[in-house]
Amino acid sequence: MANRLFFAIPVPRSQQLPLLKLQTQLEGAGRAVLASNFHITLAFLGSVNASAQQQLLHRWQDLTLPRCQLQFDQLTLWPQAQVLALTGRHCPTPLYQLAGALQRDAAQHGLHQSSRGFRPHVTLFRGATAEPALPLPQPIQVDCREVQLMISEPTPAGVSYQPLKRWPCHD
Ligand code: ATP
Ligand code: MG
Repeated sequence: MANRLFFAIPVPRSQQLPLLKLQTQLEGAGRAVLASNFHITLAFLGSVNASAQQQLLHRWQDLTLPRCQLQFDQLTLWPQAQVLALTGRHCPTPLYQLAGALQRDAAQHGLHQSSRGFRPHVTLFRGATAEPALPLPQPIQVDCREVQLMISEPTPAGVSYQPLKRWPCHD
């Protein structure tokens, strides 16, 4: 049995409201992502079988990330992926380093090979084809409070994410 996996930072519940407001302001831009699914992907792993999953968890048992914040200051359309996302120009160094290490680890162990570097973003809409109708009214902050290894499963109601493991960030 294999799982579709990715490492991510969830957007804390207490910080989801501004993103929901943005989705309302941008209504019609595409299929709105559910607030409970708001996240920042650090590394996409693709399909991982049971033994590779065990090895992955063993390699990353001591994963650590200090508490840090991301500032998003732009709305960006990626036309090929049909994604409309919140993006930021600045990324805390520890987060950038962790994402790079996770992506390299995946490639070295025969999992997904990322074609681009880490671009922190929160997807707000899928199936988006038009440039955002408005600029981002004000910057949006997202606190990194934990890293999650997520299982992604398609369901008739849309994609469902389940955490396989969580690593709380330290002070
Ligand atoms: P759906 O594919 O059903 O629209 P989704 O894209 O959220 O939903 P997944 O495709 O399982 O679900 O992706 C999980 C996370 O990994 C998302 O953040 C997605 O953007 C990212 N991801 C998926 N495929 C890739 C890829 N080939 N390269 C980089 N990141 C990816
Ligand atoms: Mg996808």
